[in-house]
Order: sequence, then structure tokens, then C-alpha cells
Amino acid sequence: AAPGGEFVDAAAAARLVRPRRKTAHKGSSGHTLIVAGSTGKTGAAAMAAASTVRTGGGLVTLAVPESVHPILEVKTTEAMTVPVGDHGRGHFTAGAFPFLENLAQGKDAVALGPGIGAARTTFFLVQRLVEALEVPMVIDADGLNALAAAPELLGKRQGRVTVLTPHPGEMARLTGGGVADVERDRIATAVGFSARYGVHTILKGAATVIAAPDGRYAVNGSGNPGMASGGMGDTLTGILVSLLGQGYPPFDACRLGVFLHGFAADLLAAQGCGVGMHATDVQEKIPLALSRLG
Ligand code: AMP
Ligand code: MG
Repeated sequence: AAPGGEFVDAAAAARLVRPRRKTAHKGSSGHTLIVAGSTGKTGAAAMAAASTVRTGGGLVTLAVPESVHPILEVKTTEAMTVPVGDHGRGHFTAGAFPFLENLAQGKDAVALGPGIGAARTTFFLVQRLVEALEVPMVIDADGLNALAAAPELLGKRQGRVTVLTPHPGEMARLTGGGVADVERDRIATAVGFSARYGVHTILKGAATVIAAPDGRYAVNGSGNPGMASGGMGDTLTGILVSLLGQGYPPFDACRLGVFLHGFAADLLAAQGCGVGMHATDVQEKIPLALSRLG
């Protein structure tokens, strides 16, 4: 096993929180770009954006395929939405690359993947964005599946901040092994992947493992099985991109973000809302979770 592991409990997470300055304004609290959504998965986009705001993000721009943009205009209130040309297909296409590359300019962090679907042209777009964008990036969901065919692209991000948030199935696709191999030694899997590709790996599930490219790793102590439902991962992605956008160092953002996500769900469970909790309810608890730590 790798040396240097740490357990993230409330005390450890509290030490990572940076109190907000009294003079803070939305321009100093991070402007993030979230590239998300497709037909049938507009909720993933809306939840990632809402979570980013709930974690204190100053400004959130949510880029979605234009076919579903009118829906996101209604679902999304605090975040701004941008329609991305999709030729009526309901998912991102490779042709959107220059537009999105331009949209990412000047943003503090980018999240790529919630609800984007698994079309070939979408995967091609993800690969080009991963290679090109300089800005700190969180890659989740089908964004990860797009990389499974070409994980070596991550090597092109040397010197840039990259956070991957696979559940065990996505991790197995990235490593080319099976889920059983991933689960047999979750720490070794995450630490090994991070070292090989120079990325932060967040291997999700009960006792989420957080691995840094330099070999450090942590195991998360918050969360509960009520979180085993759709939308919880999109919520984590929003939290992480928000913290990166606010300037948290990447390993701090990963440890604090993962703890906060589970802690918000634990606050709900303590109120009697365990199994059956909504990811949107977890999102609404993020500010309280943050203030309990701070
Ligand atoms: P996803 O599979 O992408 O929707 O992500 C699910 C999220 O919920 C991850 O952050 C998991 O760590 C969390 N989660 C799911 N089940 C549990 C559990 N039994 N205990 C703690 N966290 C969980
Ligand atoms: Mg997911």
C-alpha cells in the first residue's frame, strides 16, 4: 500500500475551509464553466450548476446542447445558460470545439461530463477539450467514458489541474480492468491511476478514495447509503468545480469537496431523510454543511 494516507473526518475537513473575506464579491468567488446535459439528462446539468452555486461559486455558466437549452433556461435560475449548436441532435457534437474552447477562456475552472451522453461525436469533443483547455478541469460521468478509449490524452495535461470522479464502473473502464479488480484494492487503484496520468482521482462509493498525482491519498469519512441514487455524482462535480474555481488548491478542493458532499447527506439522514433522499435535497444542505465546518 502507498504511504501517506489520511482519513478525512469533520475536524480534518474544517481545517481545509478558507473563510470568505468580508469584501468578497461575485467576481472574486470564481467563475466556472459547466459543460453538461443532453436529451433525457437535463437534470444532471441543472444539478451540477445548482451545486456549484450552493458551494459558494461566484458565477456559473452552464453550456448545454441548444436542443435542450430552453429546458435549462427554466430549470436553472442562479446559473447562466449558453446554448451550444448541436444540429438538432440533442447532444454535443465535435463541431462545438472552437465555441467551447473560446467560452472556457477566462474561466477559473471547468466541469465536463454530467449528462452529456455517449455519442461518438460527443466523445470526440471531450477528447479535444481535455487536450486543449488549460484551465483546472473536473471530468465526470460520460466525460470519463470518453477518455476510456484514450486515457493517455490525460498525459497531455501535464502541469494543469485535472480531477477525475469515477464510480467503480467508470474507473474500471479507465483502467481497462474489471469492477472487481477496482474494488479489491480501491486505494491502490486510485493512487496508481493518479501517479500514472498525473491527475487527481476521486474513486467514489462508500469510503471514497482521493488520490493526488504526487502519491498522497485520503479516505473520506462522510456519507451514507441514502446517497445511492441518481444525481449524487452530478452534485459532487458541482461542489468540486466550485471549490477549484474559488482557488482552493486541488488536493484541498478534492478532500473538502468529497467530505462536504457526504456531510450534507449526513445532515439530511440525521433529520430522518435517509433512504429516498433527493440529490437536490443534498444540494440545499451544502451551505449548512459548510457553515458547520467553518
Ligand atoms: P454517481 O454514481 O456518479 O451518481 O455518484 C454517487 C455519489 O454518491 C458518489 O459521490 C458516491 O460516493 C456517493 N455514494 C453512493 N453510495 C454511497 C454509500 N453507500 N456511502 C457513501 N457514499 C455513497
Ligand atoms: Mg455519475
